[in-house]
Amino acid sequence: MFGYDETEFSELSLDALVPDHIRDRHAALAHSFRAQTKSRQMGSAGLNIQGRRADGGLFPADISLLSVDDGLVYCVVRDVSAYRLLENQLREESDRLSKALVAAQEAVRVKSEFLATMSHEIRTPLNGIIGMTSLLLDSELDPEIREFVDTIRLSGDTLLTVLNDILDFSKIEAGRTELEVAPFELDRVVADALDIANQAAIGKRLELTSFITLETPAAVYGDVARFRQIVINLVSNAVKFTDQGEVAVTVDVGPLEADTITLRLAVSDTGIGIPENRLSDVFDSFVQADGSVTRKWGGTGLGLAISSRLAELMGGKIWVESEVNKGSTFHLEVPFRIAEASRAPSPRSEGALSGLKLLIVDDNATQRDVLALHATAWGMEPVSAENARQALDIVQSGQSFDLALLDLHMPEVSGLELAERLVDGWETPFKLILMSSVADRLPLRASLFAEVVHKPIKPDKLCRALQRAAGREVADENTEPDYDRAAGSFRRMRILVAEDNQSSQQVTRKLAQDLGHSVDLVSDGIEALDALSIVPYQIILMDVQMPEMNGIEATRLIRERFQGAYRPYIVAMAANAMAGDWDKYLKAGMDDYISGPVTRESLAGALARFAESTRD
Ligand code: ADP
Repeated sequence: MFGYDETEFSELSLDALVPDHIRDRHAALAHSFRAQTKSRQMGSAGLNIQGRRADGGLFPADISLLSVDDGLVYCVVRDVSAYRLLENQLREESDRLSKALVAAQEAVRVKSEFLATMSHEIRTPLNGIIGMTSLLLDSELDPEIREFVDTIRLSGDTLLTVLNDILDFSKIEAGRTELEVAPFELDRVVADALDIANQAAIGKRLELTSFITLETPAAVYGDVARFRQIVINLVSNAVKFTDQGEVAVTVDVGPLEADTITLRLAVSDTGIGIPENRLSDVFDSFVQADGSVTRKWGGTGLGLAISSRLAELMGGKIWVESEVNKGSTFHLEVPFRIAEASRAPSPRSEGALSGLKLLIVDDNATQRDVLALHATAWGMEPVSAENARQALDIVQSGQSFDLALLDLHMPEVSGLELAERLVDGWETPFKLILMSSVADRLPLRASLFAEVVHKPIKPDKLCRALQRAAGREVADENTEPDYDRAAGSFRRMRILVAEDNQSSQQVTRKLAQDLGHSVDLVSDGIEALDALSIVPYQIILMDVQMPEMNGIEATRLIRERFQGAYRPYIVAMAANAMAGDWDKYLKAGMDDYISGPVTRESLAGALARFAESTRD
């Protein structure tokens, strides 16, 4: 190793093996090791020791020492050149990689920024196209032309969805997504998602059910819009990829830790399923399980990528189990802090229904269980039957009921026929309530049923229908005046929704459309101003917090710009409105506000106040 032969080596002084520049230090160290260490003491030299070869060349050395009696020291010297070489190579490689990483991150950021800008630039003129088209559609059109315009509108809406998806995804990728934290009601989110998917489900005659366990807290703290976005995506996919059978949403919770629970939501369908080798890919961006799928079903392949990123942002995760041609179950797990208010039972349901006997007839087992659980929670005594025959047997056996809840769609004997038999067979002592889909337009013998509830069944609506049927209605002070009763006095209105969050956009649009109005969407204040210069919307539902230009600034500009005869009515939508905020909205020129997530009741209330304000 040192380049000497054995004889030369044995005659050398130790100094000859040590390079000149560390000779003094080496001598001092050697001396102190000898002097201080006891017998059989181990030692080692520092890492940067070098050895000196016979030809004067240096090499990195690693030295271990062992002192024995009589000041004698055994010394093992290793040439670590190869090791150092490797170490240097590794260091260079790691430097190179971290530089590449920084460059890649920068590239991703630039790309995301480009995408965001591009999407925005395309969306603005697109909103013009959509706005003009909806104006055209409101005018008298030749049927053939109407069809063309309808297609333009549909394509425009589709393009807008794609762009919004891209924009949303690039924002998440660039780390520019911040989650809001406010209390929200879980069952409302599920009901909203089912509501949005309902139309498509009815078209395919799919059964949509939801089941929320009693342990699940009514309200939790979180970002309702983002959470709803995930649920809407999962439910819409389930309906999209299922041609027959059912789509079921179940919500359950894990154990409570401090004040946090893990929410477990599952969306199961009986659809086409996903091949095993594609199960993990579907969460990647722009990936669809089957390349050919796009042609039949459409979509960008971004929905699940966005959903899984959002779930991660919330500290949770999404995964899927699936079997081809049997169906899929998407699981979502997210930790949520329980909202204090949710521990108190809803005053509306408490007591009013207690003690009433309810007969439930539905062929869908999940739905039966859900209904029975709700009824039990309201203090009722439910008995379930899975078909008309069973129901008739139960009634004939002499059991008495106050109310009966009948599903319209059942194989063999429908809810309608069952109702007729119950009425015609003998003097029926109980009130009947029908469960049907909104799209069902059957020649109902209206007098047969005290109430009709539409699927998906929402617990609060069902509760009120049961109360009305039983004549035990409890007025709820918190509910806005019921829009339905006054429906005759409202005309169809043109509404602009300015809201940056997609799922909130969809929900608000759906709610307003359900109330019979025409709705266009924009994503921020600037777009709202552009849209107004094209279409004179009567009402603007304006999200207060939006990127680019927020709702308050936009309102101020709108009031400045439109000072003539045209004055749009502006309703602020504020998820986290605080005391005193209303003053700020009023000063900016807003007319009304909806606080918290928009609901059918709060929207109907705002529209009713608008109608009131325009009445002569
Ligand atoms: P998109 O639906 O826009 O294509 P997604 O990211 O939502 O994008 O879904 C990605 C792919 O995952 C879909 O194209 C489809 O192949 C598959 N997929 C998602 N949900 C389901 C489901 N419930 N059943 C079968 N396949 C599904």
